[in-house]
Amino acid sequence: MTTSPAATPGPTNPPERRLRSVVGDATAKKLATLGLETIDDLLRHYPRRYVSLGEMTDLASLQVGQYATVMARVVEAVNKRFGPGGRKTRTEVTLTDGNARLTLTFFSQPWRQAQLTPGTVGLFAGEVGQFNGRLQLTHPLYEPLEGPDALEGRIARGIIPIYRASAKIPSLAIERSVETVLPVADVEDPLPEDVRADRGLPSADVAFEMIHRPRSDQQWRTARDRFRFEEAFVLQTVFAQRRHAALGQTAVPRPRRSGGLRDAFEHQLPFTLTDGQRAVVAEIEADLAREHPMHRLLQGEVGSGKTVVALLAMLQVVDDGAQAVLLAPTEVLAAQHHRGITAMLGALAEGGMLGGAAEGTRVRLLTGSMGAKARKEALLDAASGAAGIVVGTHAVLQETVQLAELGLLVVDEQHRFGVEQRAVLVDRYDTKPHVLVMTATPIPRTIAMTVFGDLETSTLSELPGGRQPIQTTVVPAAERPDWLARAWDRVREEVADGRQAYVVVSRIGGSETETGEKGAGEKADPDGPPTRSLVDLREELAAGPLAGLRLGILHGRQHPEEKDATMTAFARGEIDVLVATTVVEVGVDVPNATVMVVVDAERFGVSQLHQLRGRVGRGGHAGLCLLVTSAEDGSPSRERLDAVASTSDGFALSRLDAEQRREGDVLGAAQSGVRSSLRLLSVVKDEQVIADAREAATAFVEGDPQLASAPDLRAAVERLEQSQQADYLERT
Ligand code: ADP
Ligand code: MG
Repeated sequence: MTTSPAATPGPTNPPERRLRSVVGDATAKKLATLGLETIDDLLRHYPRRYVSLGEMTDLASLQVGQYATVMARVVEAVNKRFGPGGRKTRTEVTLTDGNARLTLTFFSQPWRQAQLTPGTVGLFAGEVGQFNGRLQLTHPLYEPLEGPDALEGRIARGIIPIYRASAKIPSLAIERSVETVLPVADVEDPLPEDVRADRGLPSADVAFEMIHRPRSDQQWRTARDRFRFEEAFVLQTVFAQRRHAALGQTAVPRPRRSGGLRDAFEHQLPFTLTDGQRAVVAEIEADLAREHPMHRLLQGEVGSGKTVVALLAMLQVVDDGAQAVLLAPTEVLAAQHHRGITAMLGALAEGGMLGGAAEGTRVRLLTGSMGAKARKEALLDAASGAAGIVVGTHAVLQETVQLAELGLLVVDEQHRFGVEQRAVLVDRYDTKPHVLVMTATPIPRTIAMTVFGDLETSTLSELPGGRQPIQTTVVPAAERPDWLARAWDRVREEVADGRQAYVVVSRIGGSETETGEKGAGEKADPDGPPTRSLVDLREELAAGPLAGLRLGILHGRQHPEEKDATMTAFARGEIDVLVATTVVEVGVDVPNATVMVVVDAERFGVSQLHQLRGRVGRGGHAGLCLLVTSAEDGSPSRERLDAVASTSDGFALSRLDAEQRREGDVLGAAQSGVRSSLRLLSVVKDEQVIADAREAATAFVEGDPQLASAPDLRAAVERLEQSQQADYLERT
C-alpha cells in the first residue's frame, strides 16, 4: 500500500473513501449505525479486545456477572412457546465444551433454532446470568467457527478481534468488512517517517494489519501503542501550530508604567502577594510587554488568589491607555467579579466621579438581564474608553460591544472551551488582544495539555498565608442521626459567633434537575434516590434545627436581579444561612462564611466538592465543611467523600475525579471533536505519551510550520480542526 498526496481525502471524504464503494450498500448502511461512514472510520474502529482460541473459558469456571466469550459445541436447540396464547417464543440452546454445559436463551428469535443446529461450533459471548439455578447467556453474540459462514484464516491466526457491535451489525460482520477493506485501503499515515522511526513505531498500513488481524498479542499491543501516539501527536500538532502562529501575530505591547493605577493599587493592597502570585504576576507582566499576543492559562488551587493576579494585569493595560475585559461564565459570577473588583479598587474605580482618585478608571458590568439604562451607560463607557475594565458574561460580550481599545481579555472559564471557541473570542478584533484564561479548578497536567495545549501555563499551588485550613467531616446521616443533629448545632454556633453558613443542595425541586445556571456541572441521576428539594429543605430547617436564623435561598432559576440581591444581602451579613444549589460553586467569595453543610454530598463530584468547600474559611476564621450523606460505609460513593475529607490537595483530587469519570466527561461538552478523535488515548492515563507527543509535535512544527513535508499529517490536522469548528458552531 502506498500513500500519495493525491489520494489524501479532503475534508469532505471523496466517494472512493466511502464504505459503500467497497462493502456494498446493505453492509454500509449497517456500519453507518455505528457511525462508520468511510474506510478510515472502519479501520479506526479498533477491536475492543481480543480472544485467543487457545484460552477459551471453560464452562465450569464461568461466574455470574462475568462477561464471557466461550467456544463451544451446540448439543440441542429447542423453541418453546410462552405468554398469552403461546404467541411468544423462547429458544433454548444447550452448549457443551465436552464436559460442562451452558444454556443460551434467545427471546422471539425462533430462527436461531435453524442456525444453531446440533454439532455447530461457534463463539458465544455475553454476560453470564442465572435462571432456575443454571448459568445462562441471554442473547449472546454468536460467531460460527466452521462452515461456509466462518472466516478463513482466522483459526490459523488463533486470535479473534472483538469489535464494538450493535444489534444491526455483530462483531463478526464488522470483522468481515475489515477483511474486505484492508487489502484495498490506500491508507494515510499522519506520522512523519522520522517521528515514527525515532520511536520504532510501525507504519500505518502495517499497524492496521496488526491491530485487526494480529498473529500474536505482541502485534496488537505494538499497533495500539502506535495509534495511541498518533492520536496524541495529531492533537499536539494542532496546538503547536497555534502557538507557532501566535508568534507571527502582532499585538500592542503594554509594558508596565510606573506611577499609574497598578502601582497605586499595589500600595493599597491589604495583604502581601504570595511568592507564587509574585512569580505569575512577573510572567504576565513580561508577556504583556511583548509584541506578540499573550496566550496564557492561569490555573490554581481554589482560594489561591487568581483574581488579584488578573486584576494587576488588567491595571497594567489600563495604565497604558487600553481596556481590559473580564468574561465570566454566569451572571452571578460576573456580578460578583464586578462587585469584588470595584471594592478592591476603592477610590481607584471612581474615575471621573466626585471624590474618586484623579487617575482612577471605571469598572462596568454588562449582563443580559440588566436594565436598559444601566446597559446603555455601560456600553457608552465601554465605547468611549471611560471604563478601563468591563466585566460581563460570555454571552453578552461575545455580541457587538464596542470598545475604545481592547488590550487584554481575561476569560474566567468554568466549562472547558475548545481551542476554536477561544479563537473566536479574539478573532473579531483587528489587533489581537492579550489573552489570559483562568480555570476555576486545578486540572491535571495531561488534561491541561489536551484542552489548553495552545496556551502557556502558570500555576498557583499555594494558598495565601494565614488562610485557615478547612476541616472536612463526613456525616453519615443514616448511621449516625446524632451527628446530623450536631451538624446543625455547629451551624447555629457559628451564627451565634457572628459568622455565616451555606447549606448546599443538589436540586431545586424534587424531580427536576437544575438547568437555570449554565455549567453548574450537576450530574443528577434520574434513577438515583430522591434528593431534597431546596424549597422543602429551607422550610424544614426554618421550622426545625435552624429556627430563628435568617435563611436565604439561591438557585440558578431565580431571576438574575433576585440572585444578585440575595448575594449582596449575604455578603453584607443580612442573611445568616444561604440555602443554595451549586450556584455557589465557583468564585463566590464571602469571607465571613465559615461553615458549609452539603446535603446528599454523594451526588456531587470530587472536584465539585473541593470547589464548594473553598467557599468557607476565606477570612481569618477556620472553615468547616460537613458532607452529609446516606451512602454506606465502604461504598464507592462513601470512599470518594472520605477522599475529599482526607486531603486538601486540589490537584490530587482533580486527578482522582478524572480517573473516575469516563474519558468523554473529562474533556467536557465543548470537546466532542477532540473526544471522537481519541479512540485509544486516555487523557487521564497516558501522561507520558501525551508529553512525548507534545515535544515531538513542537519540534516538527518548528522545522516545518506548514507541514509541507507531511501531507497526511496536514490532512489529519485539518479534519480535527474542522470537527472543533463544528463543535463550536453547534454551540452558538
Ligand atoms: P481563587 O483563586 O479561588 O479565584 P480568589 O482570587 O477569589 O481565589 O482569592 C481568594 C481570597 O484570598 C480573596 O478574598 C482574596 O482577596 C484573598 N487573597 C488573594 N491573595 C491573597 C494574599 N496574597 N494574601 C491574603 N489574601 C489573599
Ligand atoms: Mg476565582
